[in-house]
Amino acid sequence: MNGSMATEAAFIQAQMFFGVMAFVLGVSFGSFFNVCIYRIPVRRSIIRPPSHCYSCGTRIRWHDNIPLVSYLMLRGGCRYCGALFSVRYFLVELLSGIMFLAIFVSYGTGWLTVVNCAFASLLLVGAFIDADHYILPDGLTLGGLVFAVIVAAVSGSHSLIASETMTVWGIVCLDQMSRAGRFVSVPLPVYAPLLWSLAGALFGWVLLQGVGLLGRILFRKEAMGGGDIKLFAFLGAYLGAIHCLFALFVASVLGACIGLVLIIIHKLAGKDEYEEITLVPGRAAPMYWLTSIDRKSESGLGVNQSSIVDQAHLAPDSVTIRVARKTTRQMHHFPFGPYIAVAAYIVMICHDAINELLRNLFVLP
Ligand SMILES: [Zn+2]
Repeated sequence: MNGSMATEAAFIQAQMFFGVMAFVLGVSFGSFFNVCIYRIPVRRSIIRPPSHCYSCGTRIRWHDNIPLVSYLMLRGGCRYCGALFSVRYFLVELLSGIMFLAIFVSYGTGWLTVVNCAFASLLLVGAFIDADHYILPDGLTLGGLVFAVIVAAVSGSHSLIASETMTVWGIVCLDQMSRAGRFVSVPLPVYAPLLWSLAGALFGWVLLQGVGLLGRILFRKEAMGGGDIKLFAFLGAYLGAIHCLFALFVASVLGACIGLVLIIIHKLAGKDEYEEITLVPGRAAPMYWLTSIDRKSESGLGVNQSSIVDQAHLAPDSVTIRVARKTTRQMHHFPFGPYIAVAAYIVMICHDAINELLRNLFVLP
């Protein structure tokens, strides 16, 4: 074995080690994201109390709280009472492991991988909260916006926003050059990525306001939520204005395709599903129902006055309401946030390829 082969073997070993590390780190963070997804929307602390069984309340010991492994060992149930936990806990952990690994494969070891993992984490938590509750908490969207602006300010040339800035700057300089007929070199100011990030935030915000306005004019219904608009300001600041346009395009295509498939599946499967719940004064309804009833009555779905039935014989003033579980109308109402999150993740992974495409499109041969 000669020297260069040995170096290559050592390099591959190191890459594999870092790859496994990225996956393990992603899976461990995934465990924390599960906590965030369940607690942030109901305004509970994400630190205290520590993980416990939702059914018997027993605190989950560290050896039963090992991401992925414990779920498989305990067959998705509680060690003490046997209550089953949703398979989604497992899937969120696996998904964030895969996401961190893919970021490492695209960006290697370094600062860019760290900030991209943070970006992906905000998207993942936001997507699941939006799917569950039809909200994107400000902490994630506006918090993400602040994070993106700080990254632009402190990363120098090592950020996605800086690479879009340099791409645009390069195109402008080359254009100047071809007009002047001679080489013109203007160095990029150090504060350029920060300015471009702020411009991107404004662009993302205006873009989604525009799409929302178009939706109101064309379909006469609310197409964009306030959360989606703030999320796009965040994306514009982190990915850059042009990449944020790509994200909107990818999200719309994804939304149209998956929405269509869901509607077809639902039509083939047939019935709309409703569930009846009885609300008794003095007994708290589960938080999930309260928020979901709230959301549905706001959007005019599911609960309406005529479906409230008097149940006086059960308890004084108790009411039974019919809540739509799965209807074709609700399918149309699936939030846009998760599609935006997936699209933004794809655009983040393909950031360099998109820059290359822009250069090829706009730089004259
Ligand atoms: Zn239990």
